[in-house]
Amino acid sequence: MDFDVIIIGGGPAGLSAALWCDELGLKTALLEAENEFGGQLLWTFNSVENYLGLSCKNGRELRDRFLAHMSGRGFLRFLQATAREADVKKKIVTLSDGKKYSGKAIVISTGVRRRKLGVDGEESFLGKGVLVSGKRDGQSVAGQTVAVVGGGDAAIENALILAKFAKKVLVVHRRDELSARPEFAEKLKYEDNIEVLYNTELTKIYGGQIVQGVELERDNFRRELDVEGVLIRIGVAPNSEFLKGQLELDVNGYIKIDSLGKTNVENVFAVGDISNPVSPTINSAVGMGATAAKTIYYSLSS
Ligand code: NDP
Repeated sequence: MDFDVIIIGGGPAGLSAALWCDELGLKTALLEAENEFGGQLLWTFNSVENYLGLSCKNGRELRDRFLAHMSGRGFLRFLQATAREADVKKKIVTLSDGKKYSGKAIVISTGVRRRKLGVDGEESFLGKGVLVSGKRDGQSVAGQTVAVVGGGDAAIENALILAKFAKKVLVVHRRDELSARPEFAEKLKYEDNIEVLYNTELTKIYGGQIVQGVELERDNFRRELDVEGVLIRIGVAPNSEFLKGQLELDVNGYIKIDSLGKTNVENVFAVGDISNPVSPTINSAVGMGATAAKTIYYSLSS
């Protein structure tokens, strides 16, 4: 199928790019690997308070507003459309089922995924003590002991939420200082039931039907600790593997772009978190999507 623009990824950046491509009369296909649009909004369980002009009780509510706003738009939308490879020079995207889409321009908005720790029990105890989110699962650990892994904003924000329910929250951090912003880190001082275990790594999650404990390592010394819940928040990784060797990526796999979202290949753009590790916000994603669409419009009509 031939389009002016193929957008890969239907989170805020991709949705915004689709809206603006449609607004500018470009024949557009929006491809999303999952079975619904929204990207990370679907796993944002906290309220969204810093998106200009709108507050929402969670990411899903904001996603619903985005989709409602776009319901009459004429661009084509494809769910469960996973891009297996993209020939960025020829502008051909091949899906995992073999279907091919070609365009004059490509917008990549495949975002990031949560990094995994890669320890025993992380997958097998998911939903059985391994939590998805503090906000979503806080009630399930009421009166219990929970380990939160990580030292960034996400770990500390979740530790603060869990401390409202849990008897004890242990933040397990591999370094000797937190990287979370001071606004979050400061609040830890006022929570009697949060303890930070510095220079410590979580090496195993164990239990029977449900989580019963974790193995921790510090200075090559391992010990076991009884916990009923574990939440892992150790950052994110860009979904750029399918583009390796095709586009210029930075050392962490983020796509390199200029201020208009242009990659090193003509008429190939990258927008949202996949190309913006500095400011991975909904606001930035939406703006980047619009900027890319306008730039494509000028490029194709010149
Ligand atoms: P970050 O990359 O900011 O932090 C990741 C943390 O996990 C660091 O403490 C890091 O330790 C640790 N870590 C990384 N890999 C491992 C590993 N293999 N084993 C153990 N620990 C590890 O990610 P976050 O998920 O905290 O945040 C992602 C983005 O989302 C950030 O931009 C953040 O600002 C944003 N965010 C914003 C919020 C808000 O505005 N309310 C809330 C939550 C997140 P080390 O320092 O040693 O590398």
